[in-house]
Amino acid sequence: MSNLVDSFDRQINYMRISVTDRCDLRCIYCASTTFHDQTHENTLRYEEISRVVQAAATIGVSKIRLTGGEPLVRFHLDHLVNMLVGLTGIEEVSMTTNGTLLAKYAAELKTAGLNRVNVSLDSLKPDRFAYITGGDKLEDVLQGIEVANNVGLVPAKINMVVLKDINDDEILDFARKTITDSWNVRYIEYMPFARAKMHSNGLVSSQEIISIIRKQFGELEPHHSSIGNGPAKYYKLPDSNGTLGFIGAVTECFCADCNRFRLTSDGKLRPCLLDDDEIDIREPLRHGATIKELAEIIQLAASVKREQHHLSGGDMPTARSMRQIGG
Ligand code: SAM
Repeated sequence: MSNLVDSFDRQINYMRISVTDRCDLRCIYCASTTFHDQTHENTLRYEEISRVVQAAATIGVSKIRLTGGEPLVRFHLDHLVNMLVGLTGIEEVSMTTNGTLLAKYAAELKTAGLNRVNVSLDSLKPDRFAYITGGDKLEDVLQGIEVANNVGLVPAKINMVVLKDINDDEILDFARKTITDSWNVRYIEYMPFARAKMHSNGLVSSQEIISIIRKQFGELEPHHSSIGNGPAKYYKLPDSNGTLGFIGAVTECFCADCNRFRLTSDGKLRPCLLDDDEIDIREPLRHGATIKELAEIIQLAASVKREQHHLSGGDMPTARSMRQIGG
């Protein structure tokens, strides 16, 4: 049980850490056009990240997810994984990646103690993949998913952001992958960010996605498993070993159950993904703050976590793009 409780009585036990704002892809809904990589000096070192996690663990944080930017473009990520899994109170360290470098690093990350991965993949068509991401790397990602499964970073989840008139005709192709390749696919609603290249009405709701799948495959079987501790609702198709998950971040506000906060790669605590408010922890860290003092700063961040987002009312984050925050 976590001692980290926010003003709305939510227990916070999950921390998402952006290890870099750099990325080898430029997804249209994520990256901004005008962005410059932050300096090395402004980026938290592994020892600093580890110290923040150590402090968070003393007040009940037990689950960590590494993200970015693209976490695998940062050198020796396995060193960080190894440091984090050794901290008292940390039960799980996972990672969200675009998968382009996963085949290369999956085995060493597994050896370092990484538990599992989520791979972001929005199209199975090479041209479209290149259009959405700005990179011609679909084959690398597919290979990465295979290697991750082979080395035991399981269950690997495949996250597809569904974009109206861009990739929504592939919803069924991804669903079929749960049968043919036992994939665990999660359909994610597109969230508008003012700083992203694309912020038009790209939303396809979870309900719309479910009804497209039902039309083809019939009623979906609800699936209750330990596959996730987050906001996705899981189902299965008949005869499939994989699962279908739906994350209705915009249309099905799940803020009442939120258990997480973020640490950006430049050392800001971000209590809510969709709220621009951030609290600096890098300066105290670099001025010798004790573990207890760092834990107090984390507690302060939890206390200002807002009750819920207002995306459906048109309110969206304006200060930073998803790539800078760490999705
Ligand atoms: N580079 C890694 C990756 O691609 O998974 C980690 C960082 S990325 C920001 C994390 C996740 O955020 C990805 O699954 C991405 O698709 C998702 N994401 C980014 N912008 C989004 C948006 N506007 N709406 C919904 N999901 C978004």
